Amino acid sequence: MTIKDKLENLRRIIESHNQRYYIDNEPIVSDLEFDSLLLELQNLENANPEFFDTNSPSNRVGSDITSGFKAVTHKFPMYSLANSYSIDEIKTFMQRVEKEFTDEHIDYCAELKFDGTAISLTYEKGVFKRAVTRGDGALGDDVSANVRTIRSIPMRLRGDNHPDYMEVRGEIFLPFDNFDKLNATRVDIGEEPFANPRNAASGTLKLQSPTTVAERGLDAIFYDLRTEQHPVSTHFETIEMLKKWGFKTSPHTALCTNIEQVVAFLNRWDKEREQLPYATDGAVIKVNDIIMQRNLGFTSKSPRWAVAYKFKAETVKTRLLSIDYQVGRTGAITPVANLQAVQLSGTTVKRASLHNSEQIALLDIRIGDNVWVEKGGEIIPKITKVEIADRPDDTQPVVFATKCPKCETTLIKEPNQAKHYCPNTNGCEPQIVGKIVHFVSRKAMYIDALGEETIQMLFDKGLIHSVADLYNLSREDLIPLDRMGEQSVKNILEGINLSRNIPYHKLLFALGIRYVGENTAKKIAKEIPSLEQLKQTNAEELIAIEEVGNIVALSVTQFFADPRNIEIIARLEKQGLQTSGKEMVSLSQTFEGKNIVITGTFTTLSRERIKELIELHGGKNQSSVSKTTNILIAGAGVGPAKMEKAQKLGTIIISENDFLQSVENATDNHPSEQGEPSKELTISGTDATLF
Ligand code: NAD
Repeated sequence: MTIKDKLENLRRIIESHNQRYYIDNEPIVSDLEFDSLLLELQNLENANPEFFDTNSPSNRVGSDITSGFKAVTHKFPMYSLANSYSIDEIKTFMQRVEKEFTDEHIDYCAELKFDGTAISLTYEKGVFKRAVTRGDGALGDDVSANVRTIRSIPMRLRGDNHPDYMEVRGEIFLPFDNFDKLNATRVDIGEEPFANPRNAASGTLKLQSPTTVAERGLDAIFYDLRTEQHPVSTHFETIEMLKKWGFKTSPHTALCTNIEQVVAFLNRWDKEREQLPYATDGAVIKVNDIIMQRNLGFTSKSPRWAVAYKFKAETVKTRLLSIDYQVGRTGAITPVANLQAVQLSGTTVKRASLHNSEQIALLDIRIGDNVWVEKGGEIIPKITKVEIADRPDDTQPVVFATKCPKCETTLIKEPNQAKHYCPNTNGCEPQIVGKIVHFVSRKAMYIDALGEETIQMLFDKGLIHSVADLYNLSREDLIPLDRMGEQSVKNILEGINLSRNIPYHKLLFALGIRYVGENTAKKIAKEIPSLEQLKQTNAEELIAIEEVGNIVALSVTQFFADPRNIEIIARLEKQGLQTSGKEMVSLSQTFEGKNIVITGTFTTLSRERIKELIELHGGKNQSSVSKTTNILIAGAGVGPAKMEKAQKLGTIIISENDFLQSVENATDNHPSEQGEPSKELTISGTDATLF
């Protein structure tokens, strides 16, 4: 291969990894591997300057531009960062900087490197104007509608002295707990989980539905300001100023006056970052003085005044003993690696997800191989690499399971999907039990008294075979069961009975149709207001609904084509469940026309349940207090600043108890129970008279 061919080949490979990383959010190589490819390219280009190309990925910021968003030019370009993996490289960077300013003392700022996706927020006279992704550095995607849903981002700045025009730079990320919740939901409806919080954050930011973005719980931390006249003289002061203006900044930024302090910061956070509630993949060392930064300037890709230090993800080598196959509630088959037990980041690791057959083939993983297991930003360990040099002679490529490990039905794999599926939806035990567990869950039919264990027990005893059987359960069925007292039986039967009032869109979600999540169910229910009509709707009509694509439409029509599902629906209808209804069922007009914000922690009900009750009683949930907010429901631990802001805006503040009292009063007066129209109700609580 000629040098030119080699260069072109490398550039093509790197571009395709960039596409997978920035656009598809599905990288197939580790960052370390990607960086070594990039280094190989840079070395080859340096040795052969005649083949210099401005378009080479070594000279350009990896682009995240996607269709579907307005492209906006950054007034101040957005750069990447030069990467380093060792303290020596950091020392070299500092020496290079110091050479430029002999005789001058140089301070550095050491910061965490947040592992999310870069964002630039434009403010004019202190008011939020737009949010734009890094894009290719010059041009980014306008994702303002999505960014507006991130509660910690100020729409109007506090304090004063805001430059007339400024761009504030930071990182949008998904905290670990929201990442776990999101992945659990995705697995639940049969979607692939995100590989790590970074992919989840950048994927979420590019969704076309701000409501879904809001539900996922993104957050952001800011670390830079770009403006014509920088209002302070150091980076450290910039961060302090951003904080004063109301931006979330990192409390862990350190001002370092020498290399020892920088090294101490790196060593400290290499360990302590495990305790942070969000992912970090390194630290960033920046020259503190803004004039010095200006003098150092930028390369075509990154600032000369900053460098990233990448933490090494903890990784260990162990042996792959066998592969098990797990069946999810949607029938999706997940291969799981059984490993020789090994210590990693303070925990014993015995199992790791292998995702799907493609992943196994990509890694060329074989039973008996020594494999590298890594725990990076994500909680679940993953196998990153096979140590081919250690491979025993007699290994064979893995032949993926052809039959369901539970019911022996032949598995299917559709060409455009990564996962294998067991198609025996209504006859395969984990699928039946999983479907019932999903049906009773909080976001679905909310039958709290029925846990996974009880459902498994009811199934094992032959008392339930489908969700419809729940409505035939009696006290006599339940009382003889293990660990089942009078009170538990009462709670279960009451919960089942109450679920008959759960609105149609929730029932639609509860049915567990693959790919029909909460939001999609709402959208479908709005357009097709009964299961009877939905049964007769074809794929084309479904696709016309917002947020419904080919895959969802196909899944819905397949669901209704199965006579067993039709029978279950008929039984649910007979049992008096809400199988139709355009609007959400309303329990009262207590909060009619009121915009409500909930904040703090609650002791009696979950936040989700409170939000649901607000809607059931006519109110509208808002994410943060503004001029249009009518009521703030304050749980425990709400900071004084938040309360003060609400008071200033004239918002009525009520406690959790006040809220529960109002809801109880309203339900007592509910027309369906009273046989007469609901009365005008008052909110109890200290400020209720203002209402
Ligand atoms: P980067 O992530 O290495 O560094 C630049 C980014 O860091 C900035 O854009 C900003 O978003 C972020 N950042 C976080 N905290 C910061 C702070 N305190 N100060 C300043 N910036 C901060 O750069 P990149 O150009 O987005 O991506 C390159 C990285 O992505 C490399 O590590 C590379 O390995 C990885 N990558 C991997 C693949 C793959 O296939 N695995 C493909 C492409 C890129």
